[in-house]
Amino acid sequence: MELQSYEGRCHCGAIVLTYRTALPGDRWSIRACQCTFCRLHDALSTSDPRGGLDFAIREPELLQRYRFGGRTADFLLCRRCGVYVGAQMSAGGGSFGIVNLHALREPPSGLPPAVAMSYEGESARERQERRMRRWTPVKQAA
Ligand SMILES: [Zn+2]
Repeated sequence: MELQSYEGRCHCGAIVLTYRTALPGDRWSIRACQCTFCRLHDALSTSDPRGGLDFAIREPELLQRYRFGGRTADFLLCRRCGVYVGAQMSAGGGSFGIVNLHALREPPSGLPPAVAMSYEGESARERQERRMRRWTPVKQAA
C-alpha cells in the first residue's frame, strides 16, 4: 500500500511535522492516554510502526522539550503558541514518535473512536519496548 502524507503543525507554525502511513482512516490507532500530561492537553495519540515521521523545526528557539515521569521520551511543545504536537524517543539506535492527532491539519475521515489507555505500572524497559513496537519510526528527529 502507498504511504499517504499528513502535515501537522503547532498553531503558529514554528514546529511542523509530516506523518506518513498507508493505513486508511478507519484503521488508525487513536489512543487517549490517561497520563496527567495527555489529559491536560486532551491529547489523542496516533502512530504506525510501518509508517514514517519527520519533524521540521522552523524556529529552533521555540521548541520546548518536556520530560516527566520516567523521562523516557521528549514531549514536543511550542514555546510561543503552547501547542503539543507529538513526542519522540531514541532507542536501539533509532528514533520513534507519536503524533498528537489534533495537530494534523487534515486528518482522514472515518477515524475510529479513541481508546483510553493507561500505561501505569509499566517498567521503563517495558515502556521502551512497547513504544518501539507501536510508535512510528522517526527519520528526521526534532
Ligand atoms: Zn507554535
